[in-house]
Amino acid sequence: MSKEFKRQDGRKPNEMRRPISAKVGVVPNADGSAMYCSGKTIAIAAVYGPKKMHPQHSQNPEKGTLRCTYNMLSFSVADRIRPGPNRRSTEISKITEWALEPVVMLDKYPNRVVDVYIHMIQADAGTRCAGINAAAMALAHAGIPMKNIVSSIAAGKLDKTVVLDLDKYEDSEFKEGEGSTDIPMTFTPDGKLTHIQVDGHISKEQLKEAMNMAREACKEIYEVQKQALKEIKE
Ligand code: UDP
Repeated sequence: MSKEFKRQDGRKPNEMRRPISAKVGVVPNADGSAMYCSGKTIAIAAVYGPKKMHPQHSQNPEKGTLRCTYNMLSFSVADRIRPGPNRRSTEISKITEWALEPVVMLDKYPNRVVDVYIHMIQADAGTRCAGINAAAMALAHAGIPMKNIVSSIAAGKLDKTVVLDLDKYEDSEFKEGEGSTDIPMTFTPDGKLTHIQVDGHISKEQLKEAMNMAREACKEIYEVQKQALKEIKE
C-alpha cells in the first residue's frame, strides 16, 4: 500500500466514511423498517409481509420469494433523477435479493412473498451496500426468520492503491493513473461472502486485500446494526 497516497477527503486507504449510524423502526406502518447512514449516503428499507404471492402463477410451492425494490429518490443527488425504475435500479434490486437470500429462511413461507422497499434519500456512492444493510435490519425487525443478518460495504482501487468505501468522487470522477475500481461486497458476521460485484480491473492479490478490508469493516457495521436492533422500542 503506497504511503504517499492521499484521498481527497483525507481518509486512510482502509478507513470507511463517517459517521455510520443505524436506526430500526423508522416506518411505523411497515412490518419492519430501518435506516442506515454512511457519510452522506442515507438508505431507508421497509418490509411488508410475508403475504400471499399474486399473481398465483408466480407462487413457489417450495419456498417463499424475497422481492426487493431499490429506488433512488429524485432529490437524492444534485442532478435530479427521473422517477421510476431503470436498468440500474432493476439490477441493484436483483443484487440485493441475492445478497440477502442466503440468510433469509424462505422455506418457511411457501407460496408467499416478502417485499422489501429500499429508498435512497441521499446518494453519495455505496448506495447498494447501504440499502442491503438497512434491508437486513428491516427483515430482522419484521420478524422474518434469518440465519443471521448481513453487512455490506465496497472496497476497490484508486490508481494502484486498494481502498475501502469509495465515495462518489472516487467511484465516478477519479481519473488519475489507472482510474478506479469499485467492488461492493456483503458478508455474514462469520465472514462468509454472500455478494460481490467487480466493476473494473484488479489483480488477484489486490482483490484479496480489498476483500480483507471489506470483511474487517463489516464487523464494525454488524455491531452498529446489532446495537440498533437492540434499541427497538415497541
Ligand atoms: N448516481 C447518480 N445518478 C444516477 C446513478 C448514480 O448521481 O443516475 C451517483 C450516486 O451518488 C450513486 C453513485 O453515482 O451513489 C454511484 O452509483 P453506482 O451505480 O456505482 O452504485 P452505488 O455505488 O451507489 O451502489
